[in-house]
Amino acid sequence: MNKEQFVTKLKQLDISGKSTIELYNEISAFAMSCGLNNVEKPAIKNAYYLSMEFLIGRSFYNNLMELGVLKETKEILAEKGIDINVFEEIEDAALGNGGLGRLAACFLDSAAGLGLPLQGYGIRYKYGLFKQAIENGFQVELPDDWQRFGDPWSIRRDDEKRLIEFADMKVYAVPYDYPVFGKRINRLRLFQAEGSPEAEKISEYLYPADDTAEGKILRLRQEYFFSAAAIRELIEEHIKKYGKSFEKFPEFNVIQLNDTHPVLAIAEFIRILTSEHKVIFSDALEIAKKTFAYTNHTILPEALECWNAELLKKILPNIYAILIKIHLKQREEFAKLNCTSEEIAAMSSYSPNGFSMANLAVYVGKTVNGVAKLHTEILKNSLFKTVYKYYPDKFQNKTNGITQRRWLMLCNNEFSSLLDKAIGNGWRTDISELNKLNRVISDYTEDFILIKEEKKRQLFDYIKHQEGIDIPQNFLAFSQAKRLHEYKRQLMTAFAILEIYNGLKDGSIKDFVPSVFIFGAKSAPGYKRAKGIIKFINEIAEKVNADNQTNSLLKVVFIRNYNVSYAEKIVAGTDVSLQVSTAGLEASGTGNMKFMMNGAVTCGTMDGANIEIVELAGRENNYIFGAEVDEIECLKKDGYDPNTYIKLHKKAVESLIDGTFNDDGTGYFKELYDSLTIGASWHNPDNYFVLYDLKDYVEVLLKINGDYKNKYDFAVKQLRNSANSAYFSSDRTIKEYAKDIWEI
Ligand SMILES: *Cc1c(COP(=O)(O)O)cnc(C)c1O
Repeated sequence: MNKEQFVTKLKQLDISGKSTIELYNEISAFAMSCGLNNVEKPAIKNAYYLSMEFLIGRSFYNNLMELGVLKETKEILAEKGIDINVFEEIEDAALGNGGLGRLAACFLDSAAGLGLPLQGYGIRYKYGLFKQAIENGFQVELPDDWQRFGDPWSIRRDDEKRLIEFADMKVYAVPYDYPVFGKRINRLRLFQAEGSPEAEKISEYLYPADDTAEGKILRLRQEYFFSAAAIRELIEEHIKKYGKSFEKFPEFNVIQLNDTHPVLAIAEFIRILTSEHKVIFSDALEIAKKTFAYTNHTILPEALECWNAELLKKILPNIYAILIKIHLKQREEFAKLNCTSEEIAAMSSYSPNGFSMANLAVYVGKTVNGVAKLHTEILKNSLFKTVYKYYPDKFQNKTNGITQRRWLMLCNNEFSSLLDKAIGNGWRTDISELNKLNRVISDYTEDFILIKEEKKRQLFDYIKHQEGIDIPQNFLAFSQAKRLHEYKRQLMTAFAILEIYNGLKDGSIKDFVPSVFIFGAKSAPGYKRAKGIIKFINEIAEKVNADNQTNSLLKVVFIRNYNVSYAEKIVAGTDVSLQVSTAGLEASGTGNMKFMMNGAVTCGTMDGANIEIVELAGRENNYIFGAEVDEIECLKKDGYDPNTYIKLHKKAVESLIDGTFNDDGTGYFKELYDSLTIGASWHNPDNYFVLYDLKDYVEVLLKINGDYKNKYDFAVKQLRNSANSAYFSSDRTIKEYAKDIWEI
C-alpha cells in the first residue's frame, strides 16, 4: 500500500454535495488503486478454496484496516466533518448463509494475513442472503440488492471470461476479482453468469439454506457452473506455464472443496483431462486423487448433496459418464480390498439414491477433514466409518477458527487497545501472544469491566436505534446469534426464558440480576418450524417486555436482519454466549469463538468446538450443561419419551397451545407443540432433546445470573476466555491446512 499517496488523495477529496454512496465508491476506489500497487511474484504452488458461499460482510472498514489506513481515513474525514460511521449505511455483501460461508471469508483473510497463497473461487450472486424484516412477529424476506451501493472492491475481468456448457445451454462465467489484502494480496474470484436471461439466473440468487437441497436443477447448475469455471481456468493456466505435463498438476495446485457443493469439480477435472487432452482415465483419476481435498461441515443428511442420476444425465451427460466410470473404478478397488457388499454400498458414490457427493469426495480426496475434534471423531466412527476402516490415513481434524482482525481488532478497538497496554502489541501480528494475558489478568480486570460496559452501551444504543427497544445499561447480556435451526435449539432458550419469567412472577425466583436475552437469527424461507420459533420468540418478547411487574428485570430482543455487521456489535457487547445445540449436531460453530475472544463466557453443551473451548479456557470459567453425545445415543437407542419431561415445564410448553400466545391462525405453534409431543414429518417426538435438557439449562442460567453479582470474579472468567482464545484464530487453522494438507 502506498499510504502517502492514499492520504494525499483523500485529503484532496472534494466532498461537497456528494452522497454517502458516492463517497464510499470514491474512497474505496482510491484505496484499491493504492492498495494494488505492490503486486508480488506469483507463488509456485497455490491452494484454491472452492466454496458456494463467501459471507464477507462489509469490506470498507476491514480493507482500510488491512491496508493500514483506517485511522488516517477516520481522522481526515472527521476534519471534513464526516463521521466514518456513516458508511454503515452500506449494506453487507451477504454471499453466504452462515458459518460455512463466514469460515471461507475468515480463511481468505488469514491466508493473506500470513502471506500464504490461497485463492478463492465462488459465485457473484446478484442477490445475497435475503434481508429479514419482522412483521407482526413473523419473518418476512426481502431481496438483498447489495450491488446497488456499487461494488468498488472488485475488478471485472471480461478478458478472462470462459464458456461453461450444459446439455441445454451455454453460459459465460465472467470473473470479478476481489483482492484480499494482508501480508500478501490474494484473490477471491467470483463468477457471474451471463449470455442470456436463462444463463443469468444461475448467479441471481444465493440459496437461502445451506442444509437443504431445493430447486434441484438450478442448484445443480450453480454448483457445476463455478466449479467448472475454476477448473477450466486452472488447467489452462497450468498448460500455459508447464505444457501438458498434467502429472505435475498437484505439484502446483491443491484444491480444497468446502463441503459437498463444489464436488463436481472432481468430475470436471477428469473430464477435461480425458476428453480434451487425451489423458487416460486411470491416470486422470490418480492426478485428481493428489489434487483435491475435502472438508465436511455437517452430518445432517439433508445437507449431504446427492444428485439424481436422471437429472445429471439430462443436464450434464458428460459429467454423468465420468461419474459412472469413477464408480466402476471404485468397485474394482473395493473388491481388491475384500470389502463386504454392505461395506461397498456404504462407500459407493453411486446408489439407487443417486450420486453421493460426500462419498465421491471422500474417495477421491487426498484428505478428508472435520472441523472440530468431536466432529472428526463422529465422521470416523459413524458417517464415514467404513471408509475410515480402509483408508484411515485420509482423515484429519482441522478445528475451525475466526480471524481476529475482523472479530477483535475491528469490532472491539477498545479491548484491543487494552490488550496493547497489558501485553504489548505483538499479539496483533502473532495471535499466540494473546496467551500472555493470562499472567496479568488481575491487573486489568477493572479496566476490562469498564470496556465491557462501554461495548454493551454501544450495542444497546444500536438495538435501541434499530429495534426500538430500551435496555438499561446495567443488564446482563445473554446472546444467541446464529441461523435458526431446530438443532441449535433457540426454542429451548425461549422455554427457559418463560421459566424464568414465570418464576419472577410467582416469586419463586428471587435476587435476580436484570438480564436481557438477545436473539439474532434468520430462518430458511421454506423452513416452517423455524419460522414458527421466530414468531414464538417475538410473542414472548412482546409479553415480557410489556410486563411492568418484571420488565425492570427481564427483557427479550429479537434483532432484525442478523448479519456479519450486526454480529460484530453483538459479540463485543455480550456477557454470556449461548451455544446450546443438541450434542453431536453442531460440527464446530464459529460464533462461539467470536464471543470467547471478546471476553464472553460460554453457556453451552458439550458439542462442536465448545469442547475445545472449555478444554482451553477451563470448565470452571464456562457453564456447561446438558446431555453429552453418549447420553443422547443411549436415549435414542432406548427410546426417549419427552412426555415424561413435559410435566416439569408444563406452563412454558403448553403456552404454545393454551392461548397464552397467538400465531395468527397459522398453526405454527400447534405444529411446534406436536413436534415435541408426538413427532411430526418423519421425526421422533422432540427429536432434538429440548425438553430433556431444559431443566439443566434453566438451572445453569440462574447460576450464571447469581455469579454475575460478583462482577469482578465474573470478569476474570471472561478474561480467561479471551486470554485462551488464540487457538481459535483462523491463522492457526490456516497454518494447519497449509502444512498438513496443502503443502504450501
Ligand atoms: C459467525 C457467524 C455465523 C456462524 O455462527 P454459529 O454460531 O457458528 O452458527 C453465522 N452468521 C453470521 C453472520 C456470522 O457472523
